[in-house]
Amino acid sequence: MMAVSSAGGMGGRGMTSQRARDRLVARLRQNGISDERVLGIIGQLPRHVFVDEALASRAYEDTALPIGLGQTISQPYIVAKMTAAVLRDGIPQRVLEVGTGSGYQAAVLASLVPEVHTVERIDELLYVARRRFRRLGFKNIRSRHADGNVGWPEQAPFDAIVVTAGAEELVAPLLRQLGERGILVAPIGPSGAQQLVCVQRDGDAWRSEKLGAVAFVPLLAGVV
Ligand code: SAH
Repeated sequence: MMAVSSAGGMGGRGMTSQRARDRLVARLRQNGISDERVLGIIGQLPRHVFVDEALASRAYEDTALPIGLGQTISQPYIVAKMTAAVLRDGIPQRVLEVGTGSGYQAAVLASLVPEVHTVERIDELLYVARRRFRRLGFKNIRSRHADGNVGWPEQAPFDAIVVTAGAEELVAPLLRQLGERGILVAPIGPSGAQQLVCVQRDGDAWRSEKLGAVAFVPLLAGVV
């Protein structure tokens, strides 16, 4: 589904090389990420393409990094954890991401599942993310400039929904856009006390479990 070429500088040298990605994967493994499908993709996908050139040398550190406009590319450990959570019952067919940001989480998902839909409220970030998707050859990512609080009703239901910005409470329209047995992962709670929450739909019931403390930028309303 994804072809990573070493031509044109995407393969990287030095701090952006395959060795740097291998070290990141080793670190994620040490920190408890065990899903080999996810580790395999993080080992291939050039994260340095998703950050500003000035930060490329830090792209394979296991940290969130600024992407401008007050937003961040998520920490690889968290990307891995969220991705593994939506893959736990098998490969979902259709996934919605709320908060495209740099595009990295969408690209990780699109390397593993047939269809990714991603929504971003900041036009400028979406524009850059779309260029990255094209550059890397992704054909299975649909993106939209919109407020993700309403999900993407025309494309629902989704087998999985990944929310990459923090809300105080679970967002009801998103829960309703989950298909039968669909899984949603989202950072929930007041800033400073967010938890990564995993919810699985079972008919008209939604069962949730906590996956640990996280610190995401806030899920805001409206578009800019
Ligand atoms: N998944 C991203 C993480 C970006 S940070 C990545 O891999 O880089 C969270 C993103 O969510 C920001 O870009 C922010 O603008 C966006 N966001 C916040 N509230 C939103 C909303 N209501 N709808 C869509 N995007 C939103």
